[in-house]
Amino acid sequence: MLRVDRKKCVGCGECEEACAFEAICVKDNVAVVDPNVCTLCGACVDTCPEGALEISSNSGEADADLDLWRGVWVVAECRGRALAPVSLELLTQARGLADRLDTALTAVLMGYEVGSESQRLISYGADRVLLVEHPELAAFIEEVYGNILADLVRKERPEIILAGATAMGRSYIPRVATLLETGLTADCTGLDIREEDRALLQTRPAFGGNLLATIVCPRHRPQMATVRPHVMKVGVPDLGRKGEVISISPKEELLKHRSRVLESVKEQAEGPNLTEAKVIVTAGRGLEAKENLALVRELADLLGGALGATRAVVDAGWVSDRSQIGQTGVTVSPKLYIGCGVSGAIQHIVGMQGAEIIVAINRDAEAPIFNIAHYGVLGDVKEILPLLIQRIKKERG
Ligand SMILES: Cc1cc2nc3c(=O)[nH]c(=O)nc-3n(C[C@H](O)[C@H](O)[C@H](O)COP(=O)(O)OP(=O)(O)OC[C@H]3O[C@@H](n4cnc5c(N)ncnc54)[C@H](O)[C@@H]3O)c2cc1C
Repeated sequence: MLRVDRKKCVGCGECEEACAFEAICVKDNVAVVDPNVCTLCGACVDTCPEGALEISSNSGEADADLDLWRGVWVVAECRGRALAPVSLELLTQARGLADRLDTALTAVLMGYEVGSESQRLISYGADRVLLVEHPELAAFIEEVYGNILADLVRKERPEIILAGATAMGRSYIPRVATLLETGLTADCTGLDIREEDRALLQTRPAFGGNLLATIVCPRHRPQMATVRPHVMKVGVPDLGRKGEVISISPKEELLKHRSRVLESVKEQAEGPNLTEAKVIVTAGRGLEAKENLALVRELADLLGGALGATRAVVDAGWVSDRSQIGQTGVTVSPKLYIGCGVSGAIQHIVGMQGAEIIVAINRDAEAPIFNIAHYGVLGDVKEILPLLIQRIKKERG
């Protein structure tokens, strides 16, 4: 709740002016808060010249003493028994953060018969691995994974927890944040440390991708963030690196859950996986008709690549939403990205700007995609694509 320190408040009214919700007013020279209207946005706290306002938590376990929370954790993710690449990306990034904070980096590895991946986590930077293995963890059940992680956090008190913004991470990491009564910034694209107060600076696109917001969680611990796969680079493993593996048996009560997994079916995808493809040929609205998608598919097949799409193409029903690249689709970082009739809206660019080489085909010289493209082809995509396909075939004999 928002508290007013009556000894510090001078009744200047700055807070009243700053409040967009009319939740605070000055009466008898002191600020008075209406808790039913206050949204805890913090605008008044930032404005108060006397430092008389403070937002504090009622439940406050995490608020009690921030200095009790130390260490950086990465929640490793396994697909079957193998680590998901995002875990290695996170470890690489987290190693740098932990070094800045002069603290240990821990990987949490949950699953069944996944222990053989512990050394890999250490080679990518973990100082220790908390290994939680149990047959009940063979199938992913968010309730169970969430309860176990929250239990570990309560015991060990890490100051930072990072996880992948994958289907798995997105489903249970918010649950953990809720159980721990702390904040979570989802889908971060950048992470940094403010050394003076050990705050994690969590940057992510906001307001439809039109600006980048840097978010902090100043009064609660742990500071939790999820990061999209392929946004951060994977480091080089140090195969001789030593670390500690601590095996933990989960308590029976943490394994209880209300759902039952009947069967797991692997999705049959057409062509290479979009997020792992080295070459992506992307269809934009500039293709003008669904039939012209065949040209994009043909080029993608010739280059051994995957077909991507903008949201405009997905919304038109030309391809399924699994092909969508961007803010509300997947993030990709291929070696080669070819945009065919793609304008380069910010919501698309945030999902593909990590590509090593970007080629844009567009008939509008002012299209924003040309601002980030390494090679631009100005022309009608329906004319350029057949020429390109023909040339590649000819070169290959
Ligand atoms: C909250 C939010 C989230 C979003 N998330 C995403 C997302 O995840 N991914 C995404 O892609 N979009 C997303 N969008 C939509 C995004 O803003 C754009 O509308 C979309 O990316 C545009 O797709 P496009 O480039 O295919 O189409 P357009 O913007 O219509 O561009 C078509 C381009 O093709 C060119 N062109 C036309 N005809 C030809 C031709 N014959 N030959 C060559 N060039 C031609 C035009 O000059 C133009 O530049 C989101 C929007 C919002 C508000």
